Amino acid sequence: MASGVARVDLDGRPIKPLTICMIGAGGFIGSHLCEKLMAETPHRVLALDVYSDKIKHLLEPGTLPWADRIQFHRLNIKHDSRLEGLIKMSDLTINLAAICTPADYNTRPLDTIYSNFIDALPVVKYCSENGKRLIHFSTCEVYGKTIGSFLPKESPLRQDPAYYMLSEDSSPCIFGPIEKQRWSYACAKQLIERLIYGEGAENGLEFTIVRPFNWIGPRMDFIPGIDGPSEGVPRVLACFSNALLRRQQLKLVDGGQSQRTFIFIKDAIEAVLLMIENPARANGHIFNVGNPNNEVTVRQLAEMMTQVYSKVNGEPPLEVPTVDVSSKEFYGEGYDDSDKRIPDMTIINRQLGWNPKTSLWDLLESTLTYQHRTYAEAIKKATSKPIAT
Ligand code: NAD
Ligand code: UDP
Repeated sequence: MASGVARVDLDGRPIKPLTICMIGAGGFIGSHLCEKLMAETPHRVLALDVYSDKIKHLLEPGTLPWADRIQFHRLNIKHDSRLEGLIKMSDLTINLAAICTPADYNTRPLDTIYSNFIDALPVVKYCSENGKRLIHFSTCEVYGKTIGSFLPKESPLRQDPAYYMLSEDSSPCIFGPIEKQRWSYACAKQLIERLIYGEGAENGLEFTIVRPFNWIGPRMDFIPGIDGPSEGVPRVLACFSNALLRRQQLKLVDGGQSQRTFIFIKDAIEAVLLMIENPARANGHIFNVGNPNNEVTVRQLAEMMTQVYSKVNGEPPLEVPTVDVSSKEFYGEGYDDSDKRIPDMTIINRQLGWNPKTSLWDLLESTLTYQHRTYAEAIKKATSKPIAT
């Protein structure tokens, strides 16, 4: 921890050091949360995951100032009897474990549903039975499509926030038909939210549910063929980074008309830390965590990333930097999409006084600088290898 000044919560009460059982700690969000907790707080982390590559810089035994405050447990929560003991040992459990890449939702619906619902059940049960607090990671995707998307294209009501703003306590969850298996993820996340909410109502579970709205930044997903499978399809940031690094066209699914709001991972982690350290303000709440000021269409995102990357690597972009592909070609049968995602920030603002800070341009500049530094050489090597005969 950087300073010796006693840490206080938002109500001026001293914050006691906590032991946190973080499930999925080796992923994108988990790695940033571990970093923050180690660098700026006195809390201990029991980091659970099947992988540790993204947190290996935090785990060097003995050499780091926080070495005695983070412990990695390689385990799969699907089948590991150590899980309950680790939850019992902790003051708080944070569950991040999930299959959460859209390319899997329609092609691996069973794994998606098991991962996001069935595998989370014991975690909720152990927290509830042992009187432990739970912060569970859900998704903005539980909102599905906006009400406005069902209005005629030219309807002026589409401009009215009442038809698109996504609010935790009033927006409906609107999913497509069952054959659109894209919604298997959203539906599983919705059901686990309802179960947690029910455990709170009937059995007094202390919980907070987080709905991330497109958190992006360094270490998100993988670059296909470098630190992930060549045929793998990660989320959009990594897909576009991969294309830029390889000087290929960025693929726009169904014209890139869907809209998203992107938030810098470091801003979002600030919100999670406030939840961890202010249980009296966070318990019993569902929080949208996003940046409503950073809205773009996917096409605009592609254009901006192209410009930013050209600034980062000093090379002019391709003459035609994007290409249109159909969702069937890109994701296969059963893909569908959320049209627009603007988070209502009223509740998180009222409870935790939190606001995002980083503009889309700035967060892309810092993220693409990281991508270039981390992957450009490896890609150059991989693409210059002679093809085996
Ligand atoms: P991620 O895939 O990088 O991290 C998930 C981690 O969970 C991975 O390291 C994975 O190995 C681990 N995991 C999965 N199944 C496991 C199991 N059975 N046992 C042990 N470990 C397991 O994803 P992320 O972006 O860090 O997302 C974390 C959470 O936030 C997920 O629940 C996701 O649904 C939610 N979320 C994230 C975003 C976002 O913008 N990044 C958006 C919406 C929701
Ligand atoms: N997308 C795209 N090209 C890609 C990858 C994704 O046009 O190479 C689109 C995708 O169809 C969706 C948006 O980008 O409309 C965001 O996709 P992501 O995988 O990040 O997840 P989502 O926000 O849908 O959960």
